[in-house]
Amino acid sequence: MGPQKAALLNTELRIFTYGDLIQYYPFRYEDRSEFCKIADITEEMASVQIKGQIKSIGLVGGGRAKRLVADFKDETGSIELVWFQGIKWVSKAITTNVDYVVFGKPTLYGRKFNIAHPEVEPVTPSSASKGLQPIYNTTEKLKNSFLDSKGISKLQQKLVEVALPHIRETLPENLTNRFRLVSKKEAVANIHFPQNSEKLLKAQQRLKFEELFYIQLKLLRQKNQRKTEFRGQVFKNTTSLNLFYKNHLPFDLTDAQKRVIREIYKDMCSGKQMNRLLQGDVGSGKTIVAFICMLIAIDNDAQACLMAPTEILADQHYRGLKAFADLMGITIAKLTGSSKVAERRAIHEALESGELKIIIGTHALLEDVVKFKNLGLCVIDEQHRFGVAQRAKLWKKNAEVHPHVLVMTATPIPRTLAMTLYGELDISVIDELPSGRKPIRTEHRYEKDRLKVFGFIKREVELGRQVYIVYPLIEESETMDFKNLIEGHEAITRAFPEYSISIVHGRMKPDAKDYEMARFVKGESQIMVATTVIEVGVNVPNASIMIIENAERFGLSQLHQLRGRVGRGAEQSYCILMTDVKLGKESRMRMETLVRTNNGFEIADVDLKMRGPGDLAGTQQSGVLDLLISDLSQDALILTKAREAAIEILEQDAELTKPENRNIKSHIDSLNSNSVNWSRIS
Ligand code: ADP
Ligand code: MG
Repeated sequence: MGPQKAALLNTELRIFTYGDLIQYYPFRYEDRSEFCKIADITEEMASVQIKGQIKSIGLVGGGRAKRLVADFKDETGSIELVWFQGIKWVSKAITTNVDYVVFGKPTLYGRKFNIAHPEVEPVTPSSASKGLQPIYNTTEKLKNSFLDSKGISKLQQKLVEVALPHIRETLPENLTNRFRLVSKKEAVANIHFPQNSEKLLKAQQRLKFEELFYIQLKLLRQKNQRKTEFRGQVFKNTTSLNLFYKNHLPFDLTDAQKRVIREIYKDMCSGKQMNRLLQGDVGSGKTIVAFICMLIAIDNDAQACLMAPTEILADQHYRGLKAFADLMGITIAKLTGSSKVAERRAIHEALESGELKIIIGTHALLEDVVKFKNLGLCVIDEQHRFGVAQRAKLWKKNAEVHPHVLVMTATPIPRTLAMTLYGELDISVIDELPSGRKPIRTEHRYEKDRLKVFGFIKREVELGRQVYIVYPLIEESETMDFKNLIEGHEAITRAFPEYSISIVHGRMKPDAKDYEMARFVKGESQIMVATTVIEVGVNVPNASIMIIENAERFGLSQLHQLRGRVGRGAEQSYCILMTDVKLGKESRMRMETLVRTNNGFEIADVDLKMRGPGDLAGTQQSGVLDLLISDLSQDALILTKAREAAIEILEQDAELTKPENRNIKSHIDSLNSNSVNWSRIS
């Protein structure tokens, strides 16, 4: 192609090579293999192909509403074809009483179907055998240079013809046999020009498997490499842990907690550096797991730290862990941005001498002056807020042997996503809540129910409970949102003059925010009106009601996180989702999902299916979105198989030197030398 078009492909689609182009797959296909009868058209059809004749053509309406309307008939009925643009050109190009093939999306207008801007072509001998037509994503600029979907398809046609003989198989025979995958050649040919829908499906499966297999292989190799490269301290001794179990355990651990602790202990004994992600829904009991891991480190003459993203959270962890540490007579301190100078100095000294065993803090822990005698374990809370660089800084706090790292997150991630986002970490999941916990009751209420909701708040506050009322704060309309929040606060103050009401939002100074939060934590105020600043990790066991205003404006996982602020005490807790009566389909589904289940993983799955991976936390920079053909919300099964296959192969042939794996080896080598996408995934 000419240099101008080529430059457009570079800038618009980041296509630079034949390889890039041939891997630019259609995003959907139009089935042009069959004709539909007009009488059989239904509203659900995304598109139809019909054959018939135009009986009359005419201009209708004036001004902006001016349009060209053609009456199109087959032997079963008639339909209207409508054009709003290009009227002059279209009316010249089409005539009555000629056989045409028409293709487009039918919409019901009144009682009759119409198709706006349909494709119209004269019937030819090949009309019926067009089959599945590939549709490629394109851009306005490309369209203007004749590189619309059809234009790209023409390029692919030429390319596939010349390139096909040169396409090498990238998977070993034992995999293609075992998973019944078609060859790479056949897959590439059929992904662009499918002979039929069965072959298309086979092509898709093959290419998805290959893509996911190589990502998993890469992640697993990174993981293995780190394990061989980085030694870890061996923490075998459990003297004080046994003591803790015997005398001080405040409750029976859940089976999930026990399992996770075993997994972590095994890592800590392995002699390799641990890099583990600990996932557990809010309230699943991660704190005691963290403490037990710290005890193991301390039992072996090492120190432990926990880093949290905010002061409030650090403070809460500190209080939670101190309760356990005090029972065991273990030294613990907190270091944050607001620690006093003298206090800081004392902490620095105690850490360096090894006298201080556990330190909890914020980013302040990362400062160079913070030195340890022997840091053995880093616990990092709420992973998505810390970058890799910051994690690395913590590692270096022990130059001799990197500390073991445990990343804790309360944001459930679907398994498929976790395998790809955190594929190079080991993953432990606490998938069970402590027994005897009363599940939060979630209700969906409309504006018209507000008085009843207020009545309910009143009864609960009189019983001594506390209430959160949360407003959305979304940047585009921040001023409006802020107004809502302030008005809401005023309305609440008017409705409950006898109660003390706190307010916390992003425009407040940190001091004022902390002061208001503290008032609520201490029980001095009964109602907390807030924006989502309270979302992360705040723990007030006496707060048993969460009211979420304009709930339709929050995402599923955010709603779930907010709801997790209640249900932490002994009382029955409630979450009330307030919305308008009019709700879109997706919003309604979100409300229904929350009402139906408290299970964070189930919710994360629904979220992934509804929105795709793009909107989920952590995916943006992860490369998950650069997938050429796979979709993590759909392809869980293929992903699982691909990962298992990759694990198996690496177990038998870590260096990929065996002859049966030579396809893999040479493919990786070629990817490493020239792929754009590959380098972005890490
Ligand atoms: P999260 O995982 O959200 O950090 P926490 O560690 O704060 O959860 O635990 C929530 C509450 O549950 C705490 O009050 C904690 O003491 C309690 N808890 C944790 N594990 C158990 C258990 N096995 N049995 C009973 N209560 C537990
Ligand atoms: Mg917690």
